[in-house]
Amino acid sequence: MTTPVEQTPALARRGVLLILSSPSGAGKSTLTRALLDTDPDITLSISATTRAKRPSEADGVHYRFMKQREFDAMKAAGELLEWAEVHGNCYGTPREPVEQALAEGRDVLFDIDWQGTKQVCETMRADVATVFVLPPSAAELRSRLERRAEDSAEVITRRLRNAAVEIGHIDEYDYAVINDDFERCLNEIRAVLHAERIRRVRRPAITEFADGLVKELAGF
Ligand code: 5GP
Repeated sequence: MTTPVEQTPALARRGVLLILSSPSGAGKSTLTRALLDTDPDITLSISATTRAKRPSEADGVHYRFMKQREFDAMKAAGELLEWAEVHGNCYGTPREPVEQALAEGRDVLFDIDWQGTKQVCETMRADVATVFVLPPSAAELRSRLERRAEDSAEVITRRLRNAAVEIGHIDEYDYAVINDDFERCLNEIRAVLHAERIRRVRRPAITEFADGLVKELAGF
């Protein structure tokens, strides 16, 4: 009996670190959730943050909410892969779950800003694919933030100012999508993930498999 090619050890691969960045309110969390719900091979990196929990959020699910002291201790102990101050709060990626997922050949999804993306790329470029999600328009971005109604008017204004800064970094990303049509946008991100998974460099053993084919062919 032959082994299906998908199960051959030759196709064992390193995990993809898929980073999604966007201004707050561009619909990235909904895209993230949809991707996680429909793809069992990718897990979300749960960030640590000093931001106050929103009513709709749960600790350990959306973020690990913590006091500044605890965040600083993680930082000092080298337990954060990257960290940044965004909208006046600290956010960071715990290192250990990411390294474990990579070692197991699983993919990790990150919802982090441009500052964090830069830091992860500096240390793990070969494993990373970055996608920037744009809102369809400035007016739509504002109305999405207002509709969410979980932040004060002052916080919304600050987020809109920050959106311009975030968008200014789009050139640092591998892929860019516009979230004007949710399904299309989700499918584009899925396509990126699928393509990144089959990159030859992520499948080191495939060279050996190819060498075997060459040898067999020589015998024909
Ligand atoms: P929010 O407060 O709306 O949940 O997130 C605000 C911003 O912080 C978003 O743009 C999000 O991508 C970013 N962010 C969330 N977690 C992290 C993280 O661990 N590191 C960095 N650098 N940014 C993060």
